[in-house]
Amino acid sequence: MNFAIQARLDDQSKELTELAKTYLLDFGLKHDEESPDIVLSIGGDGTLLHAFHRFSHLLDKVSFVGIHTGHLGFYADWKPSELEKLVLSIAKKDFNVVEYPLLEVQVHHNSSGVNKYLALNEATVKSPSVTLVMDVELNGKHFERFRGDGLCVSTPSGSTAYNKALGGAIIHPTLQAIQLTEMASINNRVFRTVGSSLVLPAHHNCELKPVSESQEFNMTIDHISLDQSDVAKIQFNVAREKVRFARFRPFPFWERVHESFVSNDV
Ligand code: NAP
Ligand code: MN
Repeated sequence: MNFAIQARLDDQSKELTELAKTYLLDFGLKHDEESPDIVLSIGGDGTLLHAFHRFSHLLDKVSFVGIHTGHLGFYADWKPSELEKLVLSIAKKDFNVVEYPLLEVQVHHNSSGVNKYLALNEATVKSPSVTLVMDVELNGKHFERFRGDGLCVSTPSGSTAYNKALGGAIIHPTLQAIQLTEMASINNRVFRTVGSSLVLPAHHNCELKPVSESQEFNMTIDHISLDQSDVAKIQFNVAREKVRFARFRPFPFWERVHESFVSNDV
């Protein structure tokens, strides 16, 4: 089995990376940063986002594992003190693989074709200087004209990130769904949006269409920022691809939610 490591640049993560490498090589695994079967992410959830995008062309073969060198994360849910146990499990292939749904984003340009992206957490559409005005279509039918700061479309596992800060619901990642959440919509007697987050199932799609051809806006795909212009529409749906995580012990999602957001005894 081949392994690769994605690490944050702080001292603790660097130290742990060297330790992990030594252990894994000792147990007969091969270090391969090009074509790994297992990717160790050492740092935070943000580090795992980087690892995901680095290996997003290998999703049907790669499993990710996150070790947190800061606070407990949602993807980075292993403690540094568990490293030896983890390496032993990897060497013995003694782990389960869970699959989480991803978000597919297709940006259709007026002139230059379609760009496709996969997001592990979310995609956002924001206009930094002027009000964002976009028509929202659900399954090809006009739903609302959105005016406001922006819109966020998140995956279930991304629902605890930006989506949560926007007041969206936390969605269990066994559900094949995406969630559309508003950022500060303008609502008055003239302008109307639904206000609530919408959760769409796998066979539905959501499209955003700029109302003005000259609307420039910013898009994010996880930590990646893309300036956009000349866009006809952006389509969002549950991706066919999935992300795999290696699980060495049970750590149920709701327990991670509890430990991250509710419990103060950590
Ligand atoms: P960052 O500014 O370090 O991320 C913001 C926080 O989100 C960090 O504490 C990060 O954890 C945490 N996070 C990332 N994915 C998460 C998940 N699935 N569930 C719960 N928390 C999560 O930037 P980054 O590390 O590059 O991460 C990019 C992400 O930041 C975006 O995908 C977006 O979700 C999030 N974000 C949030 C807000 C907001 O809440 N207002 C605004 C912009 C972006 P770590 O410290 O472990 O990395
Ligand atoms: Mn971060």
